[in-house]
Amino acid sequence: MMKKSIEDISIDGKIVLVRCDFNVPMDEQGNITDDRRIRSALPTIRYLQKHQAKIVLMSHLGRPKGNPDKKYSLEPVSKHLSLLLGSEVLFSEDDLVVSDKTKKNVKEMKKGEIVLLENMRFRKEETENDPDFSKELSSLGEIFVNDAFGSAHRAHASTAGIAEFLPSVSGYLIKKELDIIGSALENPERPFTAILGGAKVSDKIGVIRNLLNKVDTLIIGGGMAYTFLKAKGYEVGKSILEEDKIQLAKSLYDEAKAKNVKLLLPEDVVVAEEFKNETKFKCVQKDKIPSDLMGLDIGSQTIDMFREEILQSKTIIWNGPMGVFEMTNFAKGTEAIAKALAESTAVTIIGGGDSAAAVEQMGFADKMTHISTGGGASLEFLEGIELPGVAALDDKE
Ligand code: AMP
Repeated sequence: MMKKSIEDISIDGKIVLVRCDFNVPMDEQGNITDDRRIRSALPTIRYLQKHQAKIVLMSHLGRPKGNPDKKYSLEPVSKHLSLLLGSEVLFSEDDLVVSDKTKKNVKEMKKGEIVLLENMRFRKEETENDPDFSKELSSLGEIFVNDAFGSAHRAHASTAGIAEFLPSVSGYLIKKELDIIGSALENPERPFTAILGGAKVSDKIGVIRNLLNKVDTLIIGGGMAYTFLKAKGYEVGKSILEEDKIQLAKSLYDEAKAKNVKLLLPEDVVVAEEFKNETKFKCVQKDKIPSDLMGLDIGSQTIDMFREEILQSKTIIWNGPMGVFEMTNFAKGTEAIAKALAESTAVTIIGGGDSAAAVEQMGFADKMTHISTGGGASLEFLEGIELPGVAALDDKE
């Protein structure tokens, strides 16, 4: 069922509550170190400004555990947002998030003005999805716009619960995420390749299952590849291994075969003595992993093989690093995949989290079709799970 978006509802001059995902990384001094999530909210905010709405922004930041904690105040975000927009964003400092003071601030707003509320997670009712808190929030405005893709997989008071009390639509960011990832999944230009990496198979079982029904090729790298290699009978030494998932890896491998999906595993890997950057390492074939070493990256032959597959694909989704990319000696595989994607002319979609960070760090962000703002949310979407923050929105007739 299609959901209503901000364009399907009259917002002119109305008080519009917008749930954003301003959960941005900050350094010790409270400086924002990556503002992509804030920039991603600008199209919705600008549209609302153009329509002379009174804009009340909501977000969470970090995990203050249901209590006010200055360290997690959204005030720095209001300042940064003001700069980006070139118009003032009033920050409603309020330990209770919606006290009389905030109600007054909102009541006094003029058309086109913007107020940012304090961190939703200063109230424990937020993550409890408490209907009383949702109602309290909803009393501030007339329309709810959800634009927090990064939080759409959580049923919280300000992401899902609030939709019970107000006409509710998606903003441009959620719409874009759903449109791009959704159309890749439902109607991809083929060949369609998914690249999965990261530490564990157990985190991605649902994603693999769902993608096996969609893709032509599934590439598996990162730590999770070792459980698959073990399932194929190779010894993996001290590499990360999920013993209890070996059987499952075997059955996923068989399922891929039955569905005619090409499943690619590393042919060679970089093995190291210790789990740290300054250690001895070398590249070995997959059937020659020494018992006392651990695989921390894909090898050069594997890079070439994955790269070739990428360059032949027309649609590519990538989630999870190919190795321990936080350590420079074991980042080569992840960097090579990012580079291959940047060079490809395919539709390239980067699921948030580590792969998004790698692409950004390498300066390839503008070479990708889409970098998702939600790691967890994009994974659940790839799993085929309906996101609560989307499900709660009004259906399009
Ligand atoms: P995830 O959060 O599941 O996407 O996993 C990301 C983490 O997987 C990163 O912190 C990587 O360092 C880690 N990782 C990737 N490859 C390996 C590997 N071969 N061994 C151990 N950890 C890995």
